[in-house]
Amino acid sequence: MIVPLVLLMGEEGDGMFLTEEQEQLRREVRAFAEREIAPHVLEWDEKSEFPHAVVKKLGEMGLLGVIFPEELGGAGMGYVEYVLAIEELSRVDGSVGIIVAAHNSLCANHIMLAGNEEQRRRWIPRLASGEWLGAWGLTEPGSGSDAGGARTVAVRRGDRWVLNGSKTFITNGTYANCVVVLAVTDREKGTHGGISAFVVEKGTAGFRPGKKENKLGMRASDTAELIFEDCEIPEENRIGNLGDGFKDAMRVLDGGRISIAALSLGMARGALDAAVSYAQQRRQFGKAISEFQAIQFKLADMATQLDAAWLLTMRAATMKDRGMRVTRESAMAKLYASEAACRICDEGVQIHGGYGFIKDYPAEKFYRDVRLCPIGEGTSEIQRMVIARELLGKAPSRG
Ligand SMILES: Cc1cc2nc3c(=O)[nH]c(=O)nc-3n(C[C@H](O)[C@H](O)[C@H](O)COP(=O)(O)OP(=O)(O)OC[C@H]3O[C@@H](n4cnc5c(N)ncnc54)[C@H](O)[C@@H]3O)c2cc1C
Repeated sequence: MIVPLVLLMGEEGDGMFLTEEQEQLRREVRAFAEREIAPHVLEWDEKSEFPHAVVKKLGEMGLLGVIFPEELGGAGMGYVEYVLAIEELSRVDGSVGIIVAAHNSLCANHIMLAGNEEQRRRWIPRLASGEWLGAWGLTEPGSGSDAGGARTVAVRRGDRWVLNGSKTFITNGTYANCVVVLAVTDREKGTHGGISAFVVEKGTAGFRPGKKENKLGMRASDTAELIFEDCEIPEENRIGNLGDGFKDAMRVLDGGRISIAALSLGMARGALDAAVSYAQQRRQFGKAISEFQAIQFKLADMATQLDAAWLLTMRAATMKDRGMRVTRESAMAKLYASEAACRICDEGVQIHGGYGFIKDYPAEKFYRDVRLCPIGEGTSEIQRMVIARELLGKAPSRG
């Protein structure tokens, strides 16, 4: 990692080490989130309103192209910075965190990772600047964890491909200007050379977003169905080698899972901050509830789990920035951070007592939003399978 290192004091001397630039980025994103996002969180959540204006501003700040090189219009930063940005956004609103995550590390990163030079130049600058919003479609109604069971097909017709099928639960699906879609190009070969990736742009005949989901949490983010009916796209829109789509998608998810760990960290930190503040204000039996050891122990456990999750996530991010393979480390970070975040947000509600159940306090929303984290980009069960396979030396699989 980059030296010299500076002790980050922003989080009460919790032992985190970041460069001055990284610390500055964290401060800027936190200030932005508190100024531009916090005042609207409740309303967006209630109305399931997509925060278009904030997404535009995130593009202007470079946060929609954090991990892409400057020559392609990106911010030229790495996964450590990416984690910090998503964490700070999600500390205020997980919905904004997941919008950024799906755009950066799934959609744009698939193009960056598997696309050729021409394809990168065609799509990355528009995505990195925020001119375009991106989505990534792997999941289908009948294939989630078992992504290799996809039914969406792409059939070659001359120098064009014809897509038929549907994708489900796609983040940014309704509003995306382009989507990277995984489709079966050779049923016989299946995950071993039979799935390919395509970029489908908004407005392409035969492509339309379908049902927009009404969700438990992350309600300001958009989760939608994508429908392909005789959707014809040119060969130039096929990304990566023919048949390598599944393999590339697994590589994309290695990075994507770091972003879900970051999303978990942010919501957990928001829940912990809210709990600490509430515990010091709320008085029962003539004293602040923070003076009761039972509450202190909860806060201590929450903070310890959060730091452990942060360190696992930063290990994966640092390794990724060094170009190392992170299948095991990103799965561990995602598994631990998401499950720890659920426990932390649950205790956040408990510390608030009845007020934790009321929408006037942020604890309730963190509790709902965070529940996505052990599910999206591979469930906890799938992460355990990935980690075990890595340990036992078997071929890595999806989630
Ligand atoms: C809000 C939201 C946003 C999303 N965004 C996207 C997106 O942008 N793009 C995209 O492609 N997908 C997206 N997804 C889909 C997400 O990745 C899937 O929901 C997830 O991978 C699980 O698939 P599933 O829902 O079909 O569950 P299933 O695979 O049906 O799993 C159901 C249960 O069975 C368990 N299970 C399944 N197989 C096994 C096994 N072999 N061993 C043990 N347990 C098993 C699972 O762990 C889970 O507990 C999103 C989902 C949500 C809810």
